[in-house]
Amino acid sequence: MTDLISTRFAPVEIGADISALPQSERLALVHLVDAARYMDALFLRQVWAGNETMLQRLARQEDDRQLLRSFLLNKGPWSRLDRDEPFVAGAPPKPPGANFYPIGATKEEVQSWLDSLQADARQYASGFFTTVRRGRSGGLIAVPYSAEYQQELGEAARLLRVAADLTSEPTLRRFLEARAAAFLSNDYYDSDVAWMELDGAIEPTIGPYEVYEDELFNYKAAFEAFITVRDTEETERLKSFSAHLQRLEDALPIAARYRNPHVGSLTPIRVVNVIFTAGDANRGVQTAAFNLPNDERVLREKGSKSVMLKNVQEAKFHVVLEPIAAIALTPDDRRRVSFDAFFTHILLHELMHGLGPHDITIDGRAATVRQELRETYSAIEEAKADVSGLWALQRLVDEGHVSADIGRSMYSTFLASMFRSLRFGINEAHGRGVAIQLNHFLDAGAVRVDRDGRFEIVGGAIRDAVMSLTSEIMTLQAEGSGAKAASVIERLAVIRPEVQALLDRLAGIPVDIEPRFVTAEALRH
Ligand code: ZN
Repeated sequence: MTDLISTRFAPVEIGADISALPQSERLALVHLVDAARYMDALFLRQVWAGNETMLQRLARQEDDRQLLRSFLLNKGPWSRLDRDEPFVAGAPPKPPGANFYPIGATKEEVQSWLDSLQADARQYASGFFTTVRRGRSGGLIAVPYSAEYQQELGEAARLLRVAADLTSEPTLRRFLEARAAAFLSNDYYDSDVAWMELDGAIEPTIGPYEVYEDELFNYKAAFEAFITVRDTEETERLKSFSAHLQRLEDALPIAARYRNPHVGSLTPIRVVNVIFTAGDANRGVQTAAFNLPNDERVLREKGSKSVMLKNVQEAKFHVVLEPIAAIALTPDDRRRVSFDAFFTHILLHELMHGLGPHDITIDGRAATVRQELRETYSAIEEAKADVSGLWALQRLVDEGHVSADIGRSMYSTFLASMFRSLRFGINEAHGRGVAIQLNHFLDAGAVRVDRDGRFEIVGGAIRDAVMSLTSEIMTLQAEGSGAKAASVIERLAVIRPEVQALLDRLAGIPVDIEPRFVTAEALRH
């Protein structure tokens, strides 16, 4: 299985052009990368108490470097692509509560302890930034991260302060000072707010964030770091798109009464290039975009920010998407596949999440699409963002705001990208959303399969098929019709035989990338 792990992740160099950065900012970057390395050590310990000992053992085992590589890639002895199957001899099953709860504590024990606490104490114990441990008397206690991880957080805080002193960019300095203070005080609010307000060339995200590693309760935040620099060109392009949002909303292919006359300010989006990632941000399948923070109070008061990792997307495009296109598409369609179209559509996908129906009225009652669609919401909303992203892109091409090159390549590129998503299965929202679209396109005669089982776009039909699906989805969202949503999913969120036959032929293509951070390495010299 070790071989299986290492061939499914293709090694790639990840770096960015930082020649425009002044010397002060480069030096700050060096210290940020050093601080980020502590997130690797902390995350390893959060995943499993036995990780550090096992890592030392594997590092000494010179005859099997692949095993070490797989361990580092998975941040532990379990394969994240194989439902956490262990691949190192002697590894126990992966603990669902990771190392956030005491060894041997059951979900019921933790739950009944939480239930026994006063409201404030319960909130603290079930919060993002505490572990649950066994006290001397054998009962459970909550320990703040600032105490549990004191030594590493102290070192990381020191490095963040050095970087803060070096940088001449005020929003970066404010974030680094606030985050360093948070590592020691365990109060992350001010630093989350400062993170929302970052507005310089360097865009770091470092600290405890996502809760997926805590499979017992999804309460506890895992340490991670994304040390990135802003992509100036894409940032300008995004600005130019946001000027068109109200016009796009006004032109949506739905009844006029369903359109939003005042599209407010949407979630800010940053396009960046990764210099270094660590911890939860660098395990298994690599993150290509994220939306933070998760703290409800910051979300209410300040909203959230989306960060798109362009060079990571580009690496995935070359290592995974292009080989898929070579097998999945007919030669004409394959030649049209381009990174520019791929990335521009991802930007439009994010922007279109903000357009279309959200707050709706049902028989005079105020409601939201999310509440009304319930368990069907995520797959429908993902399909909406994809397909209306194509619709919007076509409009911007027609109006001359986006290049005709993208207009020629966008549909074929998206077709290849659909197979990339379907490989992850249709048991989650993105895969289901994609299956809905592919089957709609097949039924509409906008995608067809040739004699060799390869797929192609039908030029005359794809625009209408994109328009009709955008209209169908947004209308059922505006009506808040969970029944219509469920029927779309039942009819279209399936893998048909001709699609499965193709997916089988993609088995040898890497699933994802294993990054080597070349710019971070070069910074040290
Ligand atoms: Zn989405």
